[in-house]
Amino acid sequence: MDAGASRDDAFDVIVIGAGRAGQAAIRTLIRLGARLAWVDRRFPVLEDRCGGEDRPEPGSVEEFPGTARLAGPGRVEVTGATEGVTLRARAILLATGSCVTGLGLDGLGVEQDRNGFLRVDDRCRTRVPGLFAAGDVTGPPFTAEKAEEEAEVAALAAMGKPTRRFRF
Ligand SMILES: Cc1cc2nc3c(=O)[nH]c(=O)nc-3n(C[C@H](O)[C@H](O)[C@H](O)COP(=O)(O)OP(=O)(O)OC[C@H]3O[C@@H](n4cnc5c(N)ncnc54)[C@H](O)[C@@H]3O)c2cc1C
Repeated sequence: MDAGASRDDAFDVIVIGAGRAGQAAIRTLIRLGARLAWVDRRFPVLEDRCGGEDRPEPGSVEEFPGTARLAGPGRVEVTGATEGVTLRARAILLATGSCVTGLGLDGLGVEQDRNGFLRVDDRCRTRVPGLFAAGDVTGPPFTAEKAEEEAEVAALAAMGKPTRRFRF
């Protein structure tokens, strides 16, 4: 992909982060048949991300190795291993762990606590329409169980599906 390139085709959801929350979100979104982009700066080091029967079919998820940054409503800029591409989606799911800086949140209207963690409602929605968050990025408790459960709710909500309310 050329530097500064823009993908005109929109995804249903862009998942940023391939840790516990990102993997759980991807598993749920695959089951829902979503058209997915997945960004992580650790790709392709991660192995067996979805494992077993949840392993993505080739082509069901487009992976973009690199650092993601929000570039406006429904837009994510990826730099680094992927050379400057801007992706578009109806929904974006932030699963970036304890990393809350450099994400392009300034000026978007996202509510953050005093440590920078994102405030979300019980459907994992931030205050910005179409922007969801799950896992450590939403603050404590910092556990794998919370990350995965929250990510499942976030994934369903991002696809506009009915979901239970998340409380941990
Ligand atoms: C040493 C240690 C031991 C732990 N032990 C336990 C335990 O025993 N039990 C337990 O339940 N929990 C444990 N935890 C906590 C648990 O690991 C976390 O709560 C969980 O991994 C959070 O998952 P996550 O997906 O939110 O974040 P992460 O797993 O941190 O994943 C975030 C991902 O986002 C990517 N990323 C971040 N920013 C960007 C960006 N801008 N662009 C692209 N990619 C980005 C990162 O590369 C990373 O892959 C432990 C944590 C640590 C550090």
